[in-house]
Amino acid sequence: MLNFYPGPSKVYPQVRDYLTMAYDEGILSIPHRSERFVLMMRDLVGLLRKKLNIPQDYYLFFTSSATECWEIISQSLTPHKSLHLYNGAFGEKWCQYAKRLRPDSYGQSFGVNDLLDVPNIPVEDDTDLICVTQTETSNGTQVSMETLLKLQNQFKDPLLAVDATSSMAGLNLKFIRADIWFASVQKCFGLPAGLSVLVCSPRTLQRAKALNDRKHYNSLVFLYEKMLNYQTGHTPNVLDLYLMRQMLEQLPLIKQVDQHLVKRAHDLYAFFEEMPGDVRLLVENPEVRSQTVLALQAPDKKVQELKRVAQTHGITLGNGYGAWAKNTFRIANFPAIEDSEYDTLKDFFGKLYI
Ligand SMILES: *Cc1c(COP(=O)(O)O)cnc(C)c1O
Repeated sequence: MLNFYPGPSKVYPQVRDYLTMAYDEGILSIPHRSERFVLMMRDLVGLLRKKLNIPQDYYLFFTSSATECWEIISQSLTPHKSLHLYNGAFGEKWCQYAKRLRPDSYGQSFGVNDLLDVPNIPVEDDTDLICVTQTETSNGTQVSMETLLKLQNQFKDPLLAVDATSSMAGLNLKFIRADIWFASVQKCFGLPAGLSVLVCSPRTLQRAKALNDRKHYNSLVFLYEKMLNYQTGHTPNVLDLYLMRQMLEQLPLIKQVDQHLVKRAHDLYAFFEEMPGDVRLLVENPEVRSQTVLALQAPDKKVQELKRVAQTHGITLGNGYGAWAKNTFRIANFPAIEDSEYDTLKDFFGKLYI
């Protein structure tokens, strides 16, 4: 079965062996205060920095999900309010979560084909954070590194927070262009769900320390204090941490992964652009198309039928999401999926219209 679902997505095939290794090595029963745990975490942090190009002065933390990161950001870094720039379901959801914790938080939506109009973003006084979704998994759009640079230059005081759930470990993110980055691992990392990575700039930590939120088990200052010794506050997902370390050891540097994905995205977009029939790319503006998630649009009935027929050919397409649940389907372009699997996918779509 080929799985193109953009999350939970295909896990790297090596995971199968690593699961057995984890069991055999006894890692699943180690205490999270033990030296073995600390050594594993130190390895893992070093590998993340090296393989994903994370600056030496940025801090790394491990949490359970991207959703948890949304809450940590509100609790520990938002005394007043956050601004959410979104064009899809995940960005909007983040805004809703933030509003529940900080009711003055506010959102500004933009069109699926639009570049963020940075000079005209209305930022209210006392905005602590500007939040963007780098890859909007629900509709296959992305905010480019150039746009992040513009945001950074235009708004000096608020922290810039980026949901990179569907791009971290796939694209060569320029971490210095924002203060906070996070991703759960069931997308581009190609690992089982239940873990996420949170990356913070030095400035972010200064804010967290000054605000000193200590009301929550996952308050950022607690995460920080524990990570000084490569530990976590609560018992973490040791299995997933282990799998991540094993996988990262194997993987090439992110620059190489990025080049491969970008090329493959280019091929896929060209393929679907030329495809006859009534299946079209949802995002018409090539400048804002995601490199890691493709969204395709067709009449509701056609989408249903396509997903069904694909299934009988051993191909799982991703359902549409949010406002596009019925009239789109999605295709992940994640590193764990092999080129040959996309050849099979293209064969399938090619034959539909013969
Ligand atoms: C999948 C996804 C999330 C939610 O991830 P969880 O691990 O379920 O919290 C958040 N943001 C984006 C952009 C996503 O793609």
